[in-house]
Amino acid sequence: MAHPKEILAKLDANARKSLSQNFLTSPHWADTLTSAVTQGETPQAIWEIGPGLGALTSQLIKKANAPITLFEYDKKLSAYLRQEYPTIQLIEGDVLKAPLEELAKKAGRVAILSNLPYHLSSPIFFKLVDIKSYISRVVLTFQKEFAERLIAQVGDNAYGALSLIAQLHFKITNLGILPSGAFYPPPAVASQAVILEPHNPRNLDLETLCKVIKAGFLHPRKKMVNNLKHVFPEVDWAKTMGDQSLSPNTRAEELNEAQWIALSKAVNSNT
Ligand code: SAM
Repeated sequence: MAHPKEILAKLDANARKSLSQNFLTSPHWADTLTSAVTQGETPQAIWEIGPGLGALTSQLIKKANAPITLFEYDKKLSAYLRQEYPTIQLIEGDVLKAPLEELAKKAGRVAILSNLPYHLSSPIFFKLVDIKSYISRVVLTFQKEFAERLIAQVGDNAYGALSLIAQLHFKITNLGILPSGAFYPPPAVASQAVILEPHNPRNLDLETLCKVIKAGFLHPRKKMVNNLKHVFPEVDWAKTMGDQSLSPNTRAEELNEAQWIALSKAVNSNT
């Protein structure tokens, strides 16, 4: 594939910062990411979010075991992709406004690949949580700091509600760090690739559990017990925490997954 700089010049386009356009130039990473998404369970569809100039798409079509759909916002890049890959379905526009659940339902089981537009990491991640039951696996490249939050464990600086929610919904495998030089133009920070595989091994009520976690972390400067009281006033949180040998001064980031699971049972037993 030609260098993104050359393709952009032909298209009379520039890399748009507002769309987080950093195009992959590393053949090694294009191969690693596309191999990771086509491994394992055979999906019924493969989606690529933000295909850009097709660095991943060109590899994906060689390995794909299911029809591909591309979601691209940029009009010029969409026109280019249609020309390069005329048989591949392309949905132009904001992926966050696309009817993902409807499309996933129609497809059955979907594998998803993206060198994410970094400014959309969090909203896209939570969209994926919403359609998790249709997903076989997801391979994503995030800004390194965001990926660190996803995989952080209690005691790590990056640990928080996002870590807990991500790990409750997905088995997360770290695929490694992509240096800034793997992209054109190079982003200010390094990137990190992960595989997300949906799971719920203990058959937990994840909806309630994640609501309790979000509530506990609501106002980081307030005591966790007060945050929880604010969202779930029907529960005696001081007693519930005491039952778990936790002081009412405990901070949300001090609790591990098992302790959050124990606390969330108090909400279920009050409903
Ligand atoms: N996949 C390409 C690659 O690896 O070279 C491009 C990755 S670039 C980091 C992010 C891509 O997401 C760009 O093509 C950008 O135009 C696209 N994008 C940005 N915001 C989007 C949105 N809301 N919906 C769909 N695509 C978007």
